[in-house]
Amino acid sequence: MKVIEAKNIKKSFENLEVLKEINLSIKKGDFAVVIGKNGSGKSTLLKIAIGLLLPDEGEIKVLNYDVKTKWKKLSKEIGVVLTNERSLYWKLTAYENLDIFGGIYGVKRNIKKEKIRYLLEKFNLTQFSNITVENFSTGMRKKLMLCKALIHEPKVLFLDEILNGLDPEAVYEMIEYLNELNKEGLTIFMISHILHGFSKNTDIYFLKDGSLKLTTKFGDIKEENKNIYDYFRDIIKSE
Ligand code: ADP
Ligand code: MG
Repeated sequence: MKVIEAKNIKKSFENLEVLKEINLSIKKGDFAVVIGKNGSGKSTLLKIAIGLLLPDEGEIKVLNYDVKTKWKKLSKEIGVVLTNERSLYWKLTAYENLDIFGGIYGVKRNIKKEKIRYLLEKFNLTQFSNITVENFSTGMRKKLMLCKALIHEPKVLFLDEILNGLDPEAVYEMIEYLNELNKEGLTIFMISHILHGFSKNTDIYFLKDGSLKLTTKFGDIKEENKNIYDYFRDIIKSE
């Protein structure tokens, strides 16, 4: 089954043509990472995939739902982490946040408590369960945002730059979590500027000039290609 299927997606903001022709096909269990320069349209693509923005043209289905019309149903089956840390309630504790969002996503009352406990434990946040989010570090907030995205057991996870602002150790920890979730069967669509620590089957997509230019497996990127942008530039030149 295809989890994300996009055909000929176009999106402009007034005169700015951001997405010119996006075609994408992501299967169940895939781990897709999209890289690309700032302003290349990565977040726009992700927002179209979750129904937050409408494309000007093209078709997009996620979990077989037509995102343009069935975004409400879809929202119950996907997990999303956008860049804004303010999407958490800063004056509330980690536990209270998950309690509220669990309610919003329709997690049944009798299993919600256990679910929250499980997630806080899994992401090493148990000891901060009663701390308000305003006192969290960026790394802790990102982990809590991930717990929030997972509380209703989504079938696919959309992550926009979840690794930004994390120290190297927290980046490593987060990628380990994501690899583990993917191994458990969760499909992941992720935007990232950081490319290390992924498992070798991770698909790397490059958003450039409004289209997804080229893909490779993470395992095929050679060790010596320290700067991923140079790596892709060289490949595109030699085509
Ligand atoms: P990325 O996530 O790759 O940095 P974005 O998708 O956020 O890029 O933005 C792509 C381009 O579209 C940028 O030039 C940005 O300024 C512009 N843009 C994004 N959202 C809007 C909007 N709502 N209105 C007008 N321009 C926008
Ligand atoms: Mg962005």
